[in-house]
Amino acid sequence: MKDSTFRHQPLERAIEAIVLAGGSDAREAKLVAENLVLANLLGHDSHGIGMIPRYISALLEGGLAANQHPKINFDGGAMLALDGCKGYGQVIGYEAMQMAIERAAKHGSCVMTLGNSHHLGRIGHWAEMAVARGFVSIHFVNVISHARVAPYGGRDARFGTNPCCIGVPLPGEAPFLLDYATSAVAQGKLRVAHNKGVKVPKGQLIDDQGRATDDPRYAVVPPYGAMLPFGEHKGYGMALACELLGGALSGGGTWHYEESSKQRVLNGMLAILIDPAKLGTADAFAREARLFLDWMRKGRAAPGVDRVRVAGEPERELRAKREREGVPVDATTWDEILAAADKVKLDRARVQELAGKR
Ligand code: NAD
Repeated sequence: MKDSTFRHQPLERAIEAIVLAGGSDAREAKLVAENLVLANLLGHDSHGIGMIPRYISALLEGGLAANQHPKINFDGGAMLALDGCKGYGQVIGYEAMQMAIERAAKHGSCVMTLGNSHHLGRIGHWAEMAVARGFVSIHFVNVISHARVAPYGGRDARFGTNPCCIGVPLPGEAPFLLDYATSAVAQGKLRVAHNKGVKVPKGQLIDDQGRATDDPRYAVVPPYGAMLPFGEHKGYGMALACELLGGALSGGGTWHYEESSKQRVLNGMLAILIDPAKLGTADAFAREARLFLDWMRKGRAAPGVDRVRVAGEPERELRAKREREGVPVDATTWDEILAAADKVKLDRARVQELAGKR
C-alpha cells in the first residue's frame, strides 16, 4: 500500500468511529479523535493517529478504560490532586485542566497533580487550554509504559521519554509554547522513522550493547537499546524532575519495573497554572515580554536560517500548511490503524470511506 494524504476532518471522523467501536461514548470518541488529529496537523505525528493501534490494544488488554472521568483525591481550592482512573488521557486531561483553570481563575493559581491517566498525548494541548484563558501553564510529566531512556552515564534504559511543557500567553501574538520529550527525540518519532525505513541522527540512541547507532529499530523492536536524554546531564536532570514531580508527587507512580509487554501508556502530571493578572504584574509582564521579544528578533538569523522563531511557531506554520494540503500518513501506520479497526469489529471499508479514501 502507498502513503496517503487525508483531509483532517474526514480523518477525524474515521478515528472517532474506531474509538466509538471500542466502547467509548460519542463525546469521548470526539475528544480522542480531535486531539490525535490536531497532533498530526501540528507536525507531531508521533502523538497523532498512529497511537490508535496502541490505544485499542491497551483497551482490549484492560490497561485503558473507556468512559472514565478524573476522581478527586484532594481538593484544597488552589491545590488539587486527581486520579485519572486509567481513562483516555484526551478526556481525563481535558476535564482535569478544566478544573485547574476554574481554580486558577478563582485563586490566581492552581497546583494540580494527576496520576494514573492513560496517555495524555501532546502535553502542549493541555497548556494551550490554560493559555487560551490568559494563564501561564507549566507541566512535568512521567511515562509508565516501557523503560526506553538511559540515564546520563548509564547504559540501560531506566525510564520513559518524560515530557515537559511551558505555555506563556504573549501580548499581541500567539503564545510561547515549549513542549518536548526529555529524550533526545520522542519515541514515537523513532517509531515513525522505523515504519518509514529511515535512519535517525546519531546522538539520540544507543544499541543493545550501549554503542551509538542511527538505526531506529533499537527503540522499536527487540533487542532494545536505549534512547539518550537531550542535552547530556541537563536533559537527564529534567527527565528525573518529571519522574519525581509527575510520577511521585502525583501519587501516580514512578517507573521501577523490569520490562513488561503491556500496551498501556500511563502518564502522571504536575501542572502549575498562574494568572498574571492576579499576581499584579500583568502590565509589566505584557510590556517586558513585548520588549524582550522585539529585542531578540532584531538579532541576525544564523546562516541558512530564514528567521529566529519562538517555541510554538513551527507547529502553527505546519498546521496552516496541513489544513490546506492535508495530513500525510505513511502506509504502515494506516495499515496498523485498519488492523485496530478489525480488532473492535469495525469494517475496514467503513473506516476508509469515512477517511475519504477510495
Ligand atoms: P520537538 O523536539 O519537536 O520540540 C518541540 C518544541 O520545540 C516545540 O515547543 C517547538 O515549538 C519547539 N521548536 C521546534 N523548532 C523550533 C525552532 N526552530 N525555534 C524555536 N522553537 C522550536 O518535540 P518532541 O520532543 O519530539 O516532542 C513531541 C511531542 O511529544 C510533544 O508534544 C510532547 O508533549 C509529546 N510527548 C508526549 C509524551 C507522553 O507520554 N504523553 C511523551 C513524550 C513526548
